[in-house]
Amino acid sequence: MHLNEFRKPQDIDRVIKFLKKIDRKIKIMEVCGTHTMAIAKSGIKGLLPENIKLISGPGCPVCVTPSEEIDAILELCRKNRDLIITTYGDMMKVPGTNVGESLEKLRALGSDIRIVYSALDAVEIAKNNQDREVVFLGIGFETTTPGTILALEEAINNNINNFYIYSMHKLVEPALRALLEQPDFDIDGFICPGHVGAVIGEEGFRFLVDEYKKPSVICGFEAGDILIGIFKIINQIINNDVKLENEYKRVVKTEGNKIIKEKVEKYFKVSDDLWRGIGLIKNSGLKLKKEYEKFDAITRFNITLRENNKTTACRCGDVIKGKIEPNECSLFGRLCTPENAVGPCMVSSEGACAAYYKYLQF
Ligand code: SF4
Repeated sequence: MHLNEFRKPQDIDRVIKFLKKIDRKIKIMEVCGTHTMAIAKSGIKGLLPENIKLISGPGCPVCVTPSEEIDAILELCRKNRDLIITTYGDMMKVPGTNVGESLEKLRALGSDIRIVYSALDAVEIAKNNQDREVVFLGIGFETTTPGTILALEEAINNNINNFYIYSMHKLVEPALRALLEQPDFDIDGFICPGHVGAVIGEEGFRFLVDEYKKPSVICGFEAGDILIGIFKIINQIINNDVKLENEYKRVVKTEGNKIIKEKVEKYFKVSDDLWRGIGLIKNSGLKLKKEYEKFDAITRFNITLRENNKTTACRCGDVIKGKIEPNECSLFGRLCTPENAVGPCMVSSEGACAAYYKYLQF
């Protein structure tokens, strides 16, 4: 019964009729990759008039991981043949800057690289292979950091000495601020990710309206949730009534998840971090605190990022910043497909290019 509360067809019909009457140009950014995929899959873009555009934002974890970090991971594998690397599956096909190199290719050449479905599985692998060192690649935003924390606590509590985390976790707010500060940024409103909201709380998105005056609605991931979010953003725009609305109250509370926030603070320090397409963003990443360096892959393996000046025709950076749609990249669908991806936006299951290729190109 609870599910039906946000799937009422009559409400959705009403919303679509309203949206079809809007005749001004409006650009709305869906911040996260889960929304990008849900929007593409549910056909929402096809229901909107031409003048209302939904633009993907910087919220796909694999897509924003910079080539410098991908190269560092690949080098780590190449140099440490006895190492077990554990990772979420989406990272496997992301190409490095050396042509043809990826975790998948290195695995085919003999590196021990294992896909895990949770960070805890990586600790289990470490427990079962005590004569080997195991590195877990921690990527993602506020939503995946808790999984990494669980793994860290499991390793601490069981005194595991061969488990390391390469933390590449990132924070959503600094990235959005970096986009909003760009002089040519022309987005009118934001669909804010409900799962991030579950951690940082409604208040975590307050800056969008208080400081940047952008209509913003926190949404869930059903088509109905998203459509109602779009409806509310447009209502705010046409009534000149900018505010933060929470359309995902069934999950997102005002203050978010206090326990997770405290644990993030306990184990991680906020640091400047590199983002693909955006560059270095102040205070946008999470690295393990010194007290936990025993578990820090960066310290253990002396991981350093090498500046990458190689230029490529892949326009993931512009896709992530909302400057172009995936099909505006000259490689899209020709040289770059999910089977033969040139950039991470086509590799990731939450990537804008992958979503466009799968659901929207025809
Ligand atoms: Fe990069 Fe491929 Fe997307 Fe172009 S289509 S931006 S090459 S991932």
